[in-house]
Amino acid sequence: MQQIKNFINGEFVIGSANKFFDKRSPVNNQVIAQIAEASQADVDAAVKAAHTALNGEWGKMTVDQRVEMLYAVANEITRRFEDFVAAEMADTGQPNHVMRHVFIPRGAANFKVFADVVKNVAAESFTMATPDGRGAVNYAVRNPKGVVGVISPWNAPFMLMTWKVGPALACGNTVVVKPSEETPMTSALLGEVMNAVGMPKGVFNVVNGFGPDSAGEFLTHHPMVDAITFTGETRTGTAIMKAAAEGMRDISFELGGKNAGVVFADANFDDAVNGIFRSVFLNSGQVCLGTERVYVERPIFDKFVAALKAKAEAVKYGRPEDHGSDYGPLISAEHKQKVMSYYKKAVDEGATVVTGGGVPDMPDDLKDGHWIQPTIWTGLPETASVVQEEIFGPCCHIRPFDTDEEVIKLANDTQYGLSTTIWTTNLARAHTVAAKIDVGITWVNSWFLRDLRTAFGGSKQSGIGREGGVHSLEFYTETRNICIKL
Ligand code: NAD
Repeated sequence: MQQIKNFINGEFVIGSANKFFDKRSPVNNQVIAQIAEASQADVDAAVKAAHTALNGEWGKMTVDQRVEMLYAVANEITRRFEDFVAAEMADTGQPNHVMRHVFIPRGAANFKVFADVVKNVAAESFTMATPDGRGAVNYAVRNPKGVVGVISPWNAPFMLMTWKVGPALACGNTVVVKPSEETPMTSALLGEVMNAVGMPKGVFNVVNGFGPDSAGEFLTHHPMVDAITFTGETRTGTAIMKAAAEGMRDISFELGGKNAGVVFADANFDDAVNGIFRSVFLNSGQVCLGTERVYVERPIFDKFVAALKAKAEAVKYGRPEDHGSDYGPLISAEHKQKVMSYYKKAVDEGATVVTGGGVPDMPDDLKDGHWIQPTIWTGLPETASVVQEEIFGPCCHIRPFDTDEEVIKLANDTQYGLSTTIWTTNLARAHTVAAKIDVGITWVNSWFLRDLRTAFGGSKQSGIGREGGVHSLEFYTETRNICIKL
């Protein structure tokens, strides 16, 4: 049986507790690996290693040397591309083509892009007048924050973890990563990559375990962690924010969403159907940016619902390595239970089930996996829990609308504010509506089209702070102003 160990100070270790937990495959619920759970002492050792590394070889590197190191990491990920694809497929059960074309390439890009950002960013400078007429000049320097605690989720494990580790290292910090207990494999592989490229010991560390009373909590409460970057549920963010308050540690949060898709009657119909389909069902709906509320302008409502239904009913269930399959299971039995409870709730609340609502009939070898049908509902009021709460599953509610003002109000009627996707060929309308929807990211005639130099984050309860491009520098560095009197 494969063992996944913690990675502390450049070494793979089981840890002082000598304790393991099972990693089960989402496709058939079989145990596929044993994960070494980090004790409080192990987390302490990882944080101390990261702290020591700040003042060692890593801390003394020039920006150019650090940039070269990050390029080497990106190249090594690319060289071991197939290993990363296989590990992520085993962890998540999601299709090969999604790993190959979206999630794993983004992991390598996360190191390259932020290496380029730190190499090219200019420092702020202001000259000022002084009463003696000689003046003064101010300039800013950026220093790393220190040890950054990285807490990441299971839905796109490698992409989301490296989205934090890339900029943190580019800015000269050291990191301790706590990957999701559901998906630890690619973080361990990244440890191998770090050793292969000669990353100094202690710069990148991984501790495995759970949240409360386990590695997550040990890490966020550790007084030598200088900043915490977290992606996950809003509720978990609240707990982490409380931990970060002790010692005034900075936080960056990418949290949940209940994102709206808006389809106007003037949209290119096929593009809109394909785009909304992807945004609802990619990764079996387990994408923070995914759409769970769809609003369609009334003249095309029935046609749109029928077209989305046809596509949802045509998904090909299967093992991730089967190239014909395009739809995977949910991550875990627990998550399946949660999503199924919403499927039941929707019916209880009076939804019309357009398609799905249950569990597909799978062959014997996959029967115990966490498979669930793509599901579409109509007919619910906006107050229904499946229209208000984040489900994080392959499902959406579709509702007709009549005016721009109405759909703006509907889209904004949520505690979340992560993303929106709008479909229209009317450019003026696209600009006007996009400006009025209170989210961090709006896509027009696309979805999940990511330029890593742009600001990424959520408003309302979907997050705190922005990462991406130079925005990441705001979180991963401490800006110091130096004022020189001339
Ligand atoms: P989660 O909050 O349950 O867990 C995320 C991580 O936090 C895991 O590593 C977990 O072990 C850890 N954790 C849990 N409790 C903790 C605690 N008390 N202290 C420290 N660490 C703790 O989230 P999840 O179920 O893994 O991921 C799904 C959620 O993530 C969804 O809500 C989704 O919308 C959100 N998400 C947001 C974005 C974004 O960019 N905004 C991206 C992906 C996922």
